[in-house]
Amino acid sequence: MDQNVKDLAVRYDLVWDRLGEDERAAVMEMGEDYKRFMDAGKTERLCAREIVRRAREQGFVSLEEAGALRPGDKVYSVNRGKGVVLAVIGSEEVAQGVSIVGSHIDSPRLDVKQNPLYEEGGMALLKTHYYGGVRKYQWVARPLALCGTVVRRDGSVLDVCIGDGAGDPVFYITDLLPHLAADQNKKTLAEGIAGEDLNAVAGTLPVGGREDKDRFRLAVLKLLHDKYGMTEEDFVSAELELVPAGPARDVGFDRAAIAAYGHDDRVCAYTSMRALFDLTVCRKTAVALFVDKEEVGSNGSTGMHSRNFANVIGRMIELQRGSCSGFDVDRALARSALLSSDVAAAFDPNYPSVADPRNTAYLGKGVTLIKYTGSRGKNGSNDASAEFLGEIRKCFNDAGVVWQTSELGKVDQGGGGTIAYILANCDMDVVDVGVPVLSMHAPFEVVSKADVYMTAKAYLAFYRAR
Ligand code: MN
Ligand code: MN
Repeated sequence: MDQNVKDLAVRYDLVWDRLGEDERAAVMEMGEDYKRFMDAGKTERLCAREIVRRAREQGFVSLEEAGALRPGDKVYSVNRGKGVVLAVIGSEEVAQGVSIVGSHIDSPRLDVKQNPLYEEGGMALLKTHYYGGVRKYQWVARPLALCGTVVRRDGSVLDVCIGDGAGDPVFYITDLLPHLAADQNKKTLAEGIAGEDLNAVAGTLPVGGREDKDRFRLAVLKLLHDKYGMTEEDFVSAELELVPAGPARDVGFDRAAIAAYGHDDRVCAYTSMRALFDLTVCRKTAVALFVDKEEVGSNGSTGMHSRNFANVIGRMIELQRGSCSGFDVDRALARSALLSSDVAAAFDPNYPSVADPRNTAYLGKGVTLIKYTGSRGKNGSNDASAEFLGEIRKCFNDAGVVWQTSELGKVDQGGGGTIAYILANCDMDVVDVGVPVLSMHAPFEVVSKADVYMTAKAYLAFYRAR
């Protein structure tokens, strides 16, 4: 057949087929750095801290310390320790709009309750309340680390992370032995493990003597007091998260994929951060936005619905113009564009029936463009415009980015959402663009190193094109 006719058909390449030897080495190198990033930030607070640490290394300065902003200046702003805005100032004023890649750095996990500690059956346990879309059966019978922040009675702040250091103890939620699981086995996967039964073993060593009561609970309280100066009431003003213990690992004989906790959505946070670090000059100010609370609806002061991001934009305009009105901020947002940077469901050969094979993302085929998300007929979705998709597709093609297009499962199989619609509601062009992931929301999820690399390349192309 005529080659010109064959060229009419769309072709979605494997990233690996489009890489030279040098780039293959760069893919593997980025994979190593990405694993370090993941191991350093298993909670939104730790991840925000790691982003800021790396940004400062790259010469970014806090917006509070910054003077008049000039093209090429690099600034950051932290929202309550749980969200970050990084910006490289463009040659145009911020008031003319910015280019944003926005991801979230919270991940599904088990939060320790405010009154968590009790004892039963010769052990002390911590009660938990799960955060985000957790499949509960995946969180039992596995090592867990406890990370978070405690504000003590006197107001002093204590950061805790136990379970990821060499030689650290871990926490553990028990499951039934198969010998006694006949009743449990009759339940559905969703009902087999109840949320209220996700209680983690915190201690099995009693304090005091035979005549004493509450010996296991009190032993833990004594230990917390001796080691951390904590009392039981301090749990009330604490945010403690149980997250999967252990480092990110390569997957497969060839080491081409990575299993880690929290690829959703720290893989998009990492790739946007890397893209911004590689950017030197731009016309529109380039912003990497990292928000919290996406997994529970993006509400609250650190979620995408917060005015925090608008206030940061306002502050940047003020530093350039000497003043800024509310309308200046609204207009800057309306003149901006967002790549909503969140993971996509990758085709899973073990579960092919949930996807439309022609409109699903495949591991190793690069960053994926998602026109709409939602459920029951795209409900709740930002449905990106043909015009904006056209602009982004051209930008990716011009820069040699290997991309694909996908939706979240076949029609009426389920669905989900991202932060896309929230900024789109600010009169902004938005499209979802992210990394395909296997086993999304599981304690360990899987991504391809090739897709991580290509996604960073895509975000950099977006910043450069505007
Ligand atoms: Mn996500
Ligand atoms: Mn998610």
